[in-house]
Amino acid sequence: MQEEALEQYRQSLLDVESTVPTVAVETLARLAELHEHRGDPAVALGYYRRMVDLRERLRDEERMRLVKELEMRYDVEQREREIASLRTDHSMRELQLQRRNWAVVALLSGLGVVAAAGFLVWRAMRARAVLEKRLSAEDPLTGALNRRAFLELAAYEVRRSRRSGKPLSVVMADVDHFKPVNDTHGHFVGDEVLVELVRRLRATLREVDAICRWGGEEFVLLFPDAGGDSAARVAERARMAVARTPVATSAGEMSVTLTLGVAVVGDDFEAAVDAADRALYQGKRAGRDRVVVANGSPDRARLRSDEPGSSGP
Ligand code: GH3
Ligand code: MG
Ligand code: MG
Repeated sequence: MQEEALEQYRQSLLDVESTVPTVAVETLARLAELHEHRGDPAVALGYYRRMVDLRERLRDEERMRLVKELEMRYDVEQREREIASLRTDHSMRELQLQRRNWAVVALLSGLGVVAAAGFLVWRAMRARAVLEKRLSAEDPLTGALNRRAFLELAAYEVRRSRRSGKPLSVVMADVDHFKPVNDTHGHFVGDEVLVELVRRLRATLREVDAICRWGGEEFVLLFPDAGGDSAARVAERARMAVARTPVATSAGEMSVTLTLGVAVVGDDFEAAVDAADRALYQGKRAGRDRVVVANGSPDRARLRSDEPGSSGP
């Protein structure tokens, strides 16, 4: 009977030793007891030792498992702390970014306001500068260019003409017998005549042509891209625009004529102005109300064939 029980326990030990160690411990204890009762203490001691070793091994394994579990928990908690800290970090950054965005928006709006104000000031200043420049460039009575502005423009046109190789002509024009107009009707009526003369000249000339009030009742005209012949033709048109229709003034209609001298501009602009002036006085001496081209033959210089003052449209 005892032998049978021993055999069963041995068999059971073989089955569970490697698969269920806790049961194997019990089985070893039973086997040790049975051998003890059987009076076989050496074998019983062997089983006891195996039982103790197995139990020790199981305890070691249990301790290791607990240590591992604790390590894992610590690990998990550590990660959770890291995640929480990252989340806090992220929120802080978002907050900072939001603040920075607001600062940028505020800065840009500030800059926009400053730029808009600056632009308004600049525009006002520019409008004033343009007005000042215009006023400083124009003769206040007729709106023609004054001498200083005209000379600046002429210098530019001379350079342009040299570069392009295109001709440039200058014309001196003087109102004939203007003194009697003033003497008879007064300075104010004389002024009205001068204003109307410039208006007619402007209507006759091209946009690029310049009109300057040289002084008193003398005017200088500048014709870019025009040689002597074409300048003489335009000067003749201007003469006719004045002579053909009397000027309406507050003292009634006045018949007014112009004498004009034409010169082509060469290397020296002042020399050309002098030449145009000489041509003008040549025209005055020849009877006024005519166009004279400097250095031209008398026939060519005297462009109009009708009598002074009688030129039709
Ligand atoms: P001509 O040129 O044909 O030889 O005769 P003129 O009578 O026009 O010449 P003169 O040089 O003797 O007279 C020019 C006159 O122009 C003198 C002055 O009364 C007048 N005059 C000059 N400047 C102005 C001005 O700004 N306004 C008015 N109303 N007259 C002016
Ligand atoms: Mg005159
Ligand atoms: Mg004069």
